[in-house]
Amino acid sequence: MEWVDKILKDIKNLEHLKDLEHLRLSIFGKKGFLTKEFSNLKNISDEARKKVAKDLNDIKQKLESSLLEAREKLEKMELDNKIKSQKIDVSLFSPDLSPNYGHPINITFDRIIDYFVGMDFAIRYGPLVEDDFHNFEALNLPKFHPARDMQDTFYFNDGKLLRTHTSPVQIRTMEEGNLPIRIISPGAVFRRDYDMTHSPMFHQVEGLVVDKDRDVNFAHLKFILEDFLKYMFGDVKIRFRSSFFPFTEPSAEVDISCIFCKGSGCRVCSNTGWLEVLGCGVVADNVFEASGLKNVSGYAFGMGVERFAMLLYGVNDLRSFFETDLRLLEQF
Ligand SMILES: [Zn+2]
Repeated sequence: MEWVDKILKDIKNLEHLKDLEHLRLSIFGKKGFLTKEFSNLKNISDEARKKVAKDLNDIKQKLESSLLEAREKLEKMELDNKIKSQKIDVSLFSPDLSPNYGHPINITFDRIIDYFVGMDFAIRYGPLVEDDFHNFEALNLPKFHPARDMQDTFYFNDGKLLRTHTSPVQIRTMEEGNLPIRIISPGAVFRRDYDMTHSPMFHQVEGLVVDKDRDVNFAHLKFILEDFLKYMFGDVKIRFRSSFFPFTEPSAEVDISCIFCKGSGCRVCSNTGWLEVLGCGVVADNVFEASGLKNVSGYAFGMGVERFAMLLYGVNDLRSFFETDLRLLEQF
């Protein structure tokens, strides 16, 4: 029967598991080829019937076993594909960050988050509308502290405010008191600023690691940030510069060698050969105290997602990310 050869060939050429069931029904279903042949048996003479019935049973077995074989092959293939597509190679640097979808900020966000989730950090979110204590006071920024002015805060009439950084999420997590803490807090933050490198709403990812006693130190911080920056920017040089933040002591700013001029000096790096990308430090004792933690140690770090996206995509005006200009977005 010629349909048998055709079907055997179709089974062999199956590429998706979902097509297999369709094919199976076309053979064995109520109106399937084989079902029809079997019901035709009653129309043939008694002598011939025995032979035809035997042939049909042989065909049935052949089809069943080749379907089974195809099913096993396809199931294995789909599992392999699934494993392949879900694997994150944290050592792989891809300069081609542009699948044909998504906003550059989202793509950059995902890339940052992927790294830290792969390193066993949990993701924590918090409210955008914060109180003074969580946004400033607990972070060692008391009233009239000069650093508050730098942050040009949006206030509501009741004294609440739009958070100026994602650090309040860290305070809230520490207040829960469950050790060890290993989190990142990604999200939108707000400041009264608007120019080529500032926007009133932008995005940060901050990280916090806390454990009992002196178990967490600057060496751990240095290791993870170096590994992270190589994941984001490929083979760059990295340096830690001593700095000052109210909530960490010691504090550092982290630079990478300029990815545009490879360190020889250009417009983007203001001819220094270096680009500042991160702030970090060992969490200050009075921040722990304000959060109700004792006898612990920890480190924290923070980065601006727009800053990373500008560097990764060579965009020099931050505002273009927020203007929803399709001519720009189509490039990603
Ligand atoms: Zn440069």
